[in-house]
Amino acid sequence: VKRALKRKEEPSYMGNFSGARRYVLTTFANTQSPLMKKRVARYMVSSDCSDCHGKKLRKESLSVKFAGIDIADMSAIPLKKLSTIFAPFADGSAPMLATIGKAHPEQALVARRIAEDLMARVTVLLDLGLGYLSLERSTPTLSPGELQRLRLATQVRSNLFGVVYVLDEPSAGLHPADTEALLRALDRLKASGNSLFVVEHEIDVIHHADWIVDVGPAAGVHGGNILYSGPTAGLKDVEESVTRKFLFGDHRVPAKKHLEPKGWLKLKGVTRNNLDSLAVDFPLGVFTSVTGVSGSGKSSLVSQVLVELIAEHLGQELPPEDEEGEELERTVIETLGGEIVSGMEGIKRLVRVDQKSIGRTPRSNLATYTGLFDHVRKLFASTPLAKSRKYDAGRFSFNVAKGRCENCEGEGFVMVELLFLPSVYAPCSVCQGARYNDKTLEVKYKDKNIADVLRLTVDAAHEFFEDESHIQRSLSVLREVGLGYIRLGQPATELSGGEAQRIKLATELQRINKGDTIYVLDEPTTGLHPSDVDRLMIQLERLVAAGNTVIVVEHDMRVVAGSDWVIDMGPGAGDEGGVIVASGTPEKVARSPKSLTAKYLSRFMGLA
Ligand SMILES: [Zn+2]
Ligand SMILES: [Zn+2]
Repeated sequence: VKRALKRKEEPSYMGNFSGARRYVLTTFANTQSPLMKKRVARYMVSSDCSDCHGKKLRKESLSVKFAGIDIADMSAIPLKKLSTIFAPFADGSAPMLATIGKAHPEQALVARRIAEDLMARVTVLLDLGLGYLSLERSTPTLSPGELQRLRLATQVRSNLFGVVYVLDEPSAGLHPADTEALLRALDRLKASGNSLFVVEHEIDVIHHADWIVDVGPAAGVHGGNILYSGPTAGLKDVEESVTRKFLFGDHRVPAKKHLEPKGWLKLKGVTRNNLDSLAVDFPLGVFTSVTGVSGSGKSSLVSQVLVELIAEHLGQELPPEDEEGEELERTVIETLGGEIVSGMEGIKRLVRVDQKSIGRTPRSNLATYTGLFDHVRKLFASTPLAKSRKYDAGRFSFNVAKGRCENCEGEGFVMVELLFLPSVYAPCSVCQGARYNDKTLEVKYKDKNIADVLRLTVDAAHEFFEDESHIQRSLSVLREVGLGYIRLGQPATELSGGEAQRIKLATELQRINKGDTIYVLDEPTTGLHPSDVDRLMIQLERLVAAGNTVIVVEHDMRVVAGSDWVIDMGPGAGDEGGVIVASGTPEKVARSPKSLTAKYLSRFMGLA
């Protein structure tokens, strides 16, 4: 048309136009650009294959059945149910086994052998509290805790001996009932002649150990010494040990007066995963813990449904679950239901403090994320030398061309491409990892340049900036959530999920608080020593005291016992869960006869 108009001819609309459907399909199939693929993928939905109905196999294969069930259906059955199907075949009591045995005794024998082997494997998984999983469950959708126990299960079955197993916080994310199952599995490994080295914060697990190594006394520069190495009982006499108090002291949480809810956030018809038209009331203006064994549905309820419903109500955008991965490969959550009946009047803001990374590149770090670095840069810009050279705060940013080292563009590292090998990061040869150019580094506050400051730990910086109230305040909050040992410039990519979560919490705690916010935290105590848990609790209680609502999904009974309100999900996992077993004050839930949590909670309440 353009060409025709240019030549002053009559424009013709004849030609080849691609239909929308055709355009979407060919672009999706042929494009090299991930962006284009993503764009057209928005117009596509995935649905079950019409031939096999999602069973993936052809008719002939599906016609083969065992105990009346084809292999696809068998894979979808939870392990617990699967074991009831196979048990009669393993112990020889199944009537079908006798029928086969009459005609083909060798076939009956083979069937029994296979069933026995299958049962042995399934039993280990049941012992580890994974009975709610099905065989077809894809491993990327498992939680790290589930995956770790799955790996343990294969080890328990391997019958190896003389192996040293190193486990990093195996109890993280486990309900105390699941922790007991885990300890049984570890005992079996030990009994077969293996050694277990476990890094652990959970008091129950520490008590279970034969030998204990306590490192400390505190974190960072105040730690690093072996305080004790020997049988558990001996730690009792080591005065320096912080762990000692929690191991041998009275671990009961002192009874406190529970806050009265200011109102109720009422949900109904909640349907997701194993939740089926559930009605639930969350108290407002108090500290609530949601408990339950792994797979009981507490995360579906709190981290998914509750968060989504509130965000929708407030018109708040939620960050996408995961930005990586192919759009079509993501699991589509089909069972979505639920609505807020009442209680949104007092809620103006939703803050979800999760364990997702605070940044995907080494360019973001604790100092930049919390906003602390802005103050530090201004401080450097206000020094006499910086003023005389007309350096502004931007000069001290490693993300701006002015003051950074140009060889590494402020990263401190350069990527070295190796032929046939994965590329490696090497310290920048110009700045030796300092990230700034020499001129910038000449500027000093007290006796340190900006690169030195980024190397300081939060604790050290707290001392160094004692005259700067702005900076001091941020650093104090970071120390209070147990992050004193982290370096200011530590890249986001080096931080654990628990550390990222506490940095987010600290950032939130610095804000001026109006008291109409609802905070949702998923297992904030993961990776924390009991003494740090107590400090975290003080911070969360401060949020509640300011009139906010705090809802945590938690396994740590110290936290649960210190809550104002407890909602216990269960009673079991998967099909056996998804129901609210008990809710009320910790005292009330601890006395609930149906709750699996009650037994463990009551120990912390001084009721047992
Ligand atoms: Zn198919
Ligand atoms: Zn450099």
